Amino acid sequence: MNRAVSVPELIIRKRSGGELADEEIRTLIEGYVDGDVADYQMSALAMAIYFQGMSPRETTALTLAMRDSGVVVDLSGIAGPKVDKHSTGGVGDKVSICLAPIVTACGLKVPMVSGRGLGHTGGTLDKLEAIPGFRVDLPTARFVRQVDRVGCALIGQTADIAPADKRLYALRDVTGTIESVPLITASILSKKLAEGIDALVLDVKVGSGAFMKTREEARALARSIVRVGGLAGKKVTALLTSMEQPLGRAVGNGLETIEALEVLLGGGPSDLVEITLALGAEMLRMGGVAKNAAAGRRQMRAAIADGSAARCMERIVKAQGGDPRVVREPDRLPAAPRRVKVKAPRAGWVSAIDALEVGLTCVSLGAGRTRADQDVDPVVGTVLGAKVGDRVEAGATLATLHLRDGRGAKRAADRLGAAFRISSRRAVEGPLLLETIRR
Ligand code: URA
Repeated sequence: MNRAVSVPELIIRKRSGGELADEEIRTLIEGYVDGDVADYQMSALAMAIYFQGMSPRETTALTLAMRDSGVVVDLSGIAGPKVDKHSTGGVGDKVSICLAPIVTACGLKVPMVSGRGLGHTGGTLDKLEAIPGFRVDLPTARFVRQVDRVGCALIGQTADIAPADKRLYALRDVTGTIESVPLITASILSKKLAEGIDALVLDVKVGSGAFMKTREEARALARSIVRVGGLAGKKVTALLTSMEQPLGRAVGNGLETIEALEVLLGGGPSDLVEITLALGAEMLRMGGVAKNAAAGRRQMRAAIADGSAARCMERIVKAQGGDPRVVREPDRLPAAPRRVKVKAPRAGWVSAIDALEVGLTCVSLGAGRTRADQDVDPVVGTVLGAKVGDRVEAGATLATLHLRDGRGAKRAADRLGAAFRISSRRAVEGPLLLETIRR
């Protein structure tokens, strides 16, 4: 590390609202990865950034320094537009699992590096691992080969992709510094830029089940990522989508994978299908495969109807070590031994379902982690029997809990029941797609 740079001085400058130069930011990140900057110094800096923010220039410098802390995958030898999608995370958000094979079948190359569950939100990797044998830890060379041959690979962040983010993210998770626009921007974009993509579509979730609770917060994050992505030379579009209630009906790893596979086979809940089409059509438009989003939607529907999307998923599952028969026969996935129904206490209209509470209930059953070193249980979770806007009679099933055993069942059922609001007046479900932000 450059001895001329005093880390305490940089922390103090940021704490006082000053700006850091590009080289100073790069030196800090390089020093952090090399062990010259200590965790306690980096957490102090993260807290200073949390309170003082960063300019777009500083955020871009941080993003690029974090990207360059590891390998930047070179996909330039692979023909075709390379486009990825990233979600800021929600409850029941299994979109990547159906979206990736559909847009691949339409002609995109999709090098997708996803994450694990975080807090009350699920993660694509945990959901994919519900498929027995499915490997998400492919080495970079195999990842590149699969993107070339199959068109898509769905993997986790390898040790050599943006290692600075991996360390900084773990630190932020335990130091109260997650919800910072520049830090989230750099975290998401450093990984995505390291994948070798040409363009990115970002799903910024807004509402009770999202990290961004208000439209203003979500918009600020979306604008930051679109702007910094552009400054880093990539096309980025952000869609703000509602996360006021869980997406689809299934929450829990294996249950969500089954629901995503249903979409590939032409079924699935309408809200999940709608969000998948909206994000995918934008990916196809940005990749130049569709002339506009409406044409992109038509192409996606055709890929579902002619079976090419499901066949693509079979190839992905096979290439990553799973049994491809699960795509058409999801009953092959392991199932929970116990089910408990949560009943409506009275007749009325479902006017709200607290997505955060549904997510936390599923975490308490083992679908998520409360410590980083825990395993998740692939079979537990819930399937909602009613969604906002539905009419329910007294005693109707609001949700079915899928459980490993009877432990905690009563508490989970009570908590899940309390997440539903039932009103005497019909509630209208708000729009799913709230805003599109382009450069
Ligand atoms: N997802 C990420 O990858 N990073 C963040 O900081 C927040 C969500």
